[in-house]
Amino acid sequence: NPVMQLELKLVNYSNKDRLLIARDITQTIKLQRMRRDFVANVSHELRTPLTVLRGYLESFTVESEPEMWRQALPVMQGQTQRMHYMIKDLLALSQLETGEKPLQQRPTDVAKLLSSIVADAQRLEHFRNHQITLHCDSKKWLLADTDELRSAVSNLVYNAVKYTPAETAITVRWSVENAGGIIEVQDAGEGIAQHHLERLTERFYRVDSGRARETGGTGLGLAIVKHVLQRHQAELVIDSELGVGTRFRCVFTNNSLMDKIDV
Ligand code: ADP
Repeated sequence: NPVMQLELKLVNYSNKDRLLIARDITQTIKLQRMRRDFVANVSHELRTPLTVLRGYLESFTVESEPEMWRQALPVMQGQTQRMHYMIKDLLALSQLETGEKPLQQRPTDVAKLLSSIVADAQRLEHFRNHQITLHCDSKKWLLADTDELRSAVSNLVYNAVKYTPAETAITVRWSVENAGGIIEVQDAGEGIAQHHLERLTERFYRVDSGRARETGGTGLGLAIVKHVLQRHQAELVIDSELGVGTRFRCVFTNNSLMDKIDV
């Protein structure tokens, strides 16, 4: 990894002098590489389910045995669903990145929001009697875009359910400390090795790609969480220990905190 990339240009300054102009193009090259990788990743991610669908469609005829259809249909539905989620997440991410959709901040009752997210998570197909406990240590509200906040926290809670074995304990907590308001999602799963943590919020980054695909993940969830938090001047802090579990904390500044309002 080069520290700095320079573009050098030699121009005639006068009859006997020449001028060497150096331009720092490190950032431009990095952006070009990211764009290239992104297009390659999207193509790859969409091609995989499409290949499965095509394989089935090409081998089937109207005379195929009903048993073959019975086996193939759930797989085909699953792959179509995967493409659907991928495109939905890509669009959400692109809207967040371009700032196309303005942030609609309004007073948000965090306790109420978290309890509805937990209730939804308990209806997930991956949910296998996980023990989700909700602690609301603070009565403060947040000035936030409620829909975006819901999507960010849901991603964290769904991940805790998806990537941990049945009956794992998961804690969701809302608290206020000196640093500000903290929404925390902690699981007692297998944990994530330290060297993965730094790259976890990159698009399409997965710790175990086979397992993530099995769970129907798009690899975009944490990238969405990071963007949503950035738009709220909030920060995502991830701690994990192998064999102990993982904790995701969304830290909001004191400026976003507000007292409960009566409606
Ligand atoms: P995906 O759609 O694959 O779930 P995410 O961006 O949400 O993508 O997560 C990226 C990767 O981080 C996942 O593929 C998984 O390997 C890992 N991960 C996320 N949350 C957890 C968790 N609570 N425990 C263990 N691994 C996790």
